Amino acid sequence: MEEAKIESTLERVFGVVAFSKAEKVEKDVDKVKEACGKIADRLMTAHPYKTFKIQSMRADKSFPLSSYQLSCELGGVVLDKYPELKVDLKDPGFQITAEIRDRAYLYGPDTKGLCGLPAGVAGKGILLLSGGIDSPVAAYMMAKRGLALECIYFHTYPYTSDKSLNKVKKLSEILSTYVPSLHLHVVNYTPIQLHISENCRKNESTLLSRAAMMKISHFVALEHECNSLITGESLSQVASQTAESLRFTGSSTDLPIFRPLIGMDKEEITALAKKIGTYETSILPYDDCCSMFAPEFPLTKPVFEKIKESYEILKIDDLIPEAVRSIETYTVIAGESSEPRKFFEDFRREG
Ligand code: ATP
Ligand code: MG
Repeated sequence: MEEAKIESTLERVFGVVAFSKAEKVEKDVDKVKEACGKIADRLMTAHPYKTFKIQSMRADKSFPLSSYQLSCELGGVVLDKYPELKVDLKDPGFQITAEIRDRAYLYGPDTKGLCGLPAGVAGKGILLLSGGIDSPVAAYMMAKRGLALECIYFHTYPYTSDKSLNKVKKLSEILSTYVPSLHLHVVNYTPIQLHISENCRKNESTLLSRAAMMKISHFVALEHECNSLITGESLSQVASQTAESLRFTGSSTDLPIFRPLIGMDKEEITALAKKIGTYETSILPYDDCCSMFAPEFPLTKPVFEKIKESYEILKIDDLIPEAVRSIETYTVIAGESSEPRKFFEDFRREG
């Protein structure tokens, strides 16, 4: 793999604190000095530094120089080449590090990584991925804490077009450059959305719909060994994101629901979306079903028992097995999606 590609890949791996291109040479003092001089040349050509520091670490104690002696020798090499430089141990313009291990490794300043935890150490979460700005950012934040990802999108074709689906596919492709691979499950949500919109009290429609999405996500999560759900909800952003609304929509699952944006402002979320590269896709103007079927005056403080009852009366759960069977799944690896395939032909709703 070419160097630039390796760097841009490492920059997107959670768990990496910092990385640097190292010169690997034999554990011979002259060879180590030569490699150090080469790195100094590269750095001084790129920038007229005024100060520097050498840091040495000697894991192999049979190496003839101590760490301190090696630092002095290498400092001498750099000063011979660039007498205008000064040593500054506290705030150096650049640092060259020498590590004496199985071989000698020398490297210049490192590039900061994303930090966080490696993908999958916290298990896998299922992200409710809409086409908006928020949910991809939520995915990024949870992936940073070590969750691998499945994504689920509720598609209300033809009320939302294939352009909306393509946008969600594109977002999952961008997310797959941060997590090694993921699946995007696309649910045909039209029958449930229409059933709710045509039969419910108008102001309850968004909440009932969101509760059904949560329930379907719960089943898909269990099927794919996910330990949690992830949403892009943020407190008080819209009617379905009040504490009362979240209590109801969250009651469809007993899995933990991670809402990492809950305390963030839209401006902060937008800045992060730009940084991770999802913003430009998220703002493409294709509607999602929520805006299309949204009531004019949605409930902001549902009474839990009452809205639970509305959900039961509408028998929404009866439509869930069919919705799950409709799922088409894309495998998304390193920015590319496979052809979709059916995953749940034999799905039987349990309990
Ligand atoms: P986003 O910017 O992520 O779309 P939003 O601010 O538009 O969020 P809502 O539309 O209320 O907020 O959605 C809240 C969350 O519900 C989303 O962040 C997402 O996790 C989930 N969600 C909403 N609609 C869908 C959908 N069609 N498919 C999958 N998940 C959805
Ligand atoms: Mg949305």
